[in-house]
Amino acid sequence: MKKLKTKIIILMLSVAILSVVLVAVITNLTIFNKFNTYMEEEHADRISDIVKMVEYSYSIDNSWSNKVLRNISNSSLIDNFMIQIINENGNVVFENNVDNSMMRMHNQMMGRMGKRIMRGADNSKISDSNTTVKLQELIVDGKRIGTIEIGYTGNFIVSQREVDFTKGINSSILYASIISIILAIILGLYNSKVMSQPILKITNAANNIREGDLDTKIQIKNDARELIELSEAINHLAQSLKEQQILRKRLTTDISHELRTPLTILLSHIEAFSDGVWQPTKERLSICRDEVIRLKKLVEQLKYITDIENHRVELEIESFNLSELLEGIVESFEYEFQIKSVRLERHIEENIIIEGDMDKVRQIIINLISNALKFTDSEGRVNVALNKDSNKTILEIIDTGIGINEEDIPFVFERFYRSDKSRSRDTGGAGIGLTITKTLVEAHGGKISVASEKEKGSRFTIVFPNI
Ligand code: ADP
Repeated sequence: MKKLKTKIIILMLSVAILSVVLVAVITNLTIFNKFNTYMEEEHADRISDIVKMVEYSYSIDNSWSNKVLRNISNSSLIDNFMIQIINENGNVVFENNVDNSMMRMHNQMMGRMGKRIMRGADNSKISDSNTTVKLQELIVDGKRIGTIEIGYTGNFIVSQREVDFTKGINSSILYASIISIILAIILGLYNSKVMSQPILKITNAANNIREGDLDTKIQIKNDARELIELSEAINHLAQSLKEQQILRKRLTTDISHELRTPLTILLSHIEAFSDGVWQPTKERLSICRDEVIRLKKLVEQLKYITDIENHRVELEIESFNLSELLEGIVESFEYEFQIKSVRLERHIEENIIIEGDMDKVRQIIINLISNALKFTDSEGRVNVALNKDSNKTILEIIDTGIGINEEDIPFVFERFYRSDKSRSRDTGGAGIGLTITKTLVEAHGGKISVASEKEKGSRFTIVFPNI
């Protein structure tokens, strides 16, 4: 397993080396192509200069006199060219042979320079065998005075300046390569540090969380979106693990409280009966019976939740008018609200049809309205609202009751959870009603949420998907 640092450095180095090689190859190819064109044009110019010089020299005496031929052989233009002049009678009047060893040397130098970089490229023009011969007529005053043959081998007329220029380019590329490799290493080291530091921080935080430190919070100084999202996800994970841990602890306390109370009552009664302290009167036995019923109900409700969660309870899905169902339930509650002097308001949009199990939806609504009534003091207000938009149906039960502590809100839908224990005990709930409600809403593909403020009131919102 390679370290991130090594990987980043290798990556930066490969990019640097690759770009340097590409620049070297492309630059050399371009330069040599341009060079060839340049050389060809140069040859053409020089050949035409030689022809003009020979014709001009002839015109001095109007014959191939010794003076004319000396003039030609003294001209620097003919250096490096093999020249043969034939007069109009077909006799060779002038010949210039170039020192072949010089040419070969020059060619070899050009070959080495070019081939090293452009292997496989066309280098036929610089081989000895590739001698080009140009044959041209010599004309003076419109009269043919003979022919000239000019031969040259490859690109031999390359000045030292041109060779130096190409060498210079290649050494610049070499320096650039060395500099970019050094830069790649430095940048690789820097980037790996920038990248690996937050990753190390996140790893440490994850290890702390694994060891149980759920207060761990990662704060990274890096603006890479993925790293920020990763650290946020880990923070979120720690937060939800913390909530789960609190919940588990509370659940254990709540469940033991819920079971202990009826069991203590039962035990004390049975002991009193068996010790002969109390007579098992009808009233005392009825207290025991009520506690047993309470326990039985609790166990049944727990089983019910598990059954719905495990899809063991069949929903009898049908299309029904939710507006009518809600109106009916609200009406049935009116009397209880009147007795407690709590105002019951409704804002129900008509004829909203949904698909679901009507009995279970009724149970959901009854649970929420009876909770609203339970936790709202007299002179308070409960509002039941039903609306529909393009893709969802929204049911809201809003009360001006006692509200829920902010830190309790995430646990309201959990089993046995009661934010106001003493009061709930009076109201007889075991903290299971909202768990059942939530499970049933989700079984219908809906979502339930709560917004609440202590002493101000609560708003329970259910969103059903539209059919
Ligand atoms: P219970 O059967 O005890 O009412 P629920 O699951 O229905 O159990 O509710 C759980 C707890 O949530 C309640 O004990 C209460 O503290 C709180 N709660 C539920 N509804 C409301 C509400 N409308 N206003 C304030 N608190 C509420």
